[in-house]
Amino acid sequence: MSLAERIAQIIEMQGPISVAQFMSIALHDPVNGYYAQHDPIGIGGDFTTAPEISQMFGELIGAWIVQVWREQGAPSPARLVELGPGHGTLMADVLRAARLDAEFLSSIEITLIETSARLRAAQAKRLKDTAVVIHWAERFDDSLADRPLFVLANEFFDALPIRQFVHTERGWCERMVGLDRQRSLAFALVPLSRQLNIPAERGRPRRGDICETSPAGEGIILQIANAIAQRGAALIFDYGYGANAGFGETLQAVAAHKFANVLQKPGEADLSSHVDFAALARAAENAGTKTYGPVTQRALLEALGIEVRAECLARANPEQADSIAAAVKRLISSAQMGTLFKALAILPKGAPRPPGF
Ligand code: SAH
Repeated sequence: MSLAERIAQIIEMQGPISVAQFMSIALHDPVNGYYAQHDPIGIGGDFTTAPEISQMFGELIGAWIVQVWREQGAPSPARLVELGPGHGTLMADVLRAARLDAEFLSSIEITLIETSARLRAAQAKRLKDTAVVIHWAERFDDSLADRPLFVLANEFFDALPIRQFVHTERGWCERMVGLDRQRSLAFALVPLSRQLNIPAERGRPRRGDICETSPAGEGIILQIANAIAQRGAALIFDYGYGANAGFGETLQAVAAHKFANVLQKPGEADLSSHVDFAALARAAENAGTKTYGPVTQRALLEALGIEVRAECLARANPEQADSIAAAVKRLISSAQMGTLFKALAILPKGAPRPPGF
């Protein structure tokens, strides 16, 4: 039975489901979900990510982590966590850069948070030669806060389920996924039983405006921020809104590097949405941490020295000079990932300002 058919049966039994429930099933169903069936990343996948574009991305982040760890007194033992590590490429590049500080490597244990069995296997293969102990977990939980925690995420938060609300003449309604007369999946509006709290910076809604929220993303940030309020750090990269998310729909489906219909073939397309960095930063600050940014990926990578790193690499590998220059351009030019992608850092109050922010 197709995933669309199974979702239709769920809706027949319990009524329309939220967009968040729909996303969870479409992405994570253990048999027919997108991540169970597909390797999403890279040329053969549905999209390409910064660590897959160039090793420089992970190397600069590795140097960042080591410096922040040093500036907080080089706590040992410590834990390095990556959320949604994909092929394990970012972590492999981070660990390569971190080899310059043997004490860091001997102090950390790694936990990779990953729901997909297929991607866990790819990560294990990619990282098999590292001497650092690696654990896997399906979700972030407070047991990971047993020691100072350093957290990385790239394109993880955009994959978390969101809820969508539409401002109508009846007030705010939640956009749900139901069935139309042909029994195909279709959006339906359901009035809210209680008031929707919208952050003031989004402004006054007009009729038809759509408000997206990410309770899952804010929940994870809250847990992470609680864990690092004393010591540690988080560095989060994603595509999304900077200061003000405003109103508008950003949920998108992508299959084979092309946009697809969100409801048409659940399990076949990657689903993601713009990350609301202001909401994540607010959740982190409510837990008593200090946040820096979001700054654009371009600003951060430039401040961390991507140009110098690219020159060194090109000098060592002259035959690759053109592809290295092309990779830098892809990562930092405004026409590509440079401005849409942003970075947010979360640190304990009173910790030194992190490099690049
Ligand atoms: N960070 C990688 C991969 C990004 S794709 C890169 O930059 O290349 C998103 C990743 O998050 C995948 O590894 C996916 O399996 C994982 N993921 C998505 N939702 C998740 C969830 N709710 N819990 C844990 N991992 C999740």
